[in-house]
Amino acid sequence: MSNDCPVLQKGQVLVMCAPSGTGKSTLVKKLRAEFPEIGFSISCTTRSPREGEVHGRDYYFLEKDEFTARRDKGEFAEWAEVHGNYYGTPAAPVKDMLLQGTDVLFDIDFQGAMQLRETFPDGLYVFLLPPSYAELEKRLKGRGTDSAEVIEKRLKNARKEMDAASNFDYWVINDNLDRAYTELRTIYLSGKSRRCNRPELLNNILKEWG
Ligand code: ADP
Ligand code: 5GP
Repeated sequence: MSNDCPVLQKGQVLVMCAPSGTGKSTLVKKLRAEFPEIGFSISCTTRSPREGEVHGRDYYFLEKDEFTARRDKGEFAEWAEVHGNYYGTPAAPVKDMLLQGTDVLFDIDFQGAMQLRETFPDGLYVFLLPPSYAELEKRLKGRGTDSAEVIEKRLKNARKEMDAASNFDYWVINDNLDRAYTELRTIYLSGKSRRCNRPELLNNILKEWG
């Protein structure tokens, strides 16, 4: 992504990370339902679609060759290998949305979040925590979307992902969904009041002061 983006950006960056099964997609869905004006960064992945997932809405599902070709052309703002598949954020739509003043939500893993922080140091970096390992396992199994083998891999990776939580600015425990959601929306809304997200506000007000 070109370096001028952080300087010119008018929209706010909101990055959400969590071990798989914590409830990130559930919370992202709630946030997007309440704030439909938030842009969503649709990632590319080499993972196969789950039942109900739509190409171009949930992800762009790519063959590995195409993913690596696009990665090597520098089309991704960040990319990472997660649970044995490649995932990446197409840079161009993110840049367009931010320049237009649209806030952008990223549902990515911690490796990608750390890469994005280099480009967007003023973003809101939120780590969602599961209440316990047992509850995480229960949620992954209860979701019913992944094979036992995939679930085992995701649980194994969860420990490493929890260690990455210390790199994030906000920690939200997803115990009670409504409470966790209230915290998340508060983080988002308070971020919008930050000076860095209102670059022209003061000058616009002062223009009328003569
Ligand atoms: P992620 O996107 O983090 O992998 P999901 O949003 O798919 O996780 O949630 C995993 C499962 O846990 C889903 O079946 C979801 O309905 C359930 N879930 C999400 N949040 C909670 C919660 N606070 N309490 C109980 N179950 C939850
Ligand atoms: P899932 O396969 O369950 O949809 O996603 C697995 C993990 O990959 C989740 O932690 C999700 O946030 C992450 N992920 C999704 N898109 C991207 C992306 O573009 N980049 C990175 N680094 N991770 C992503």
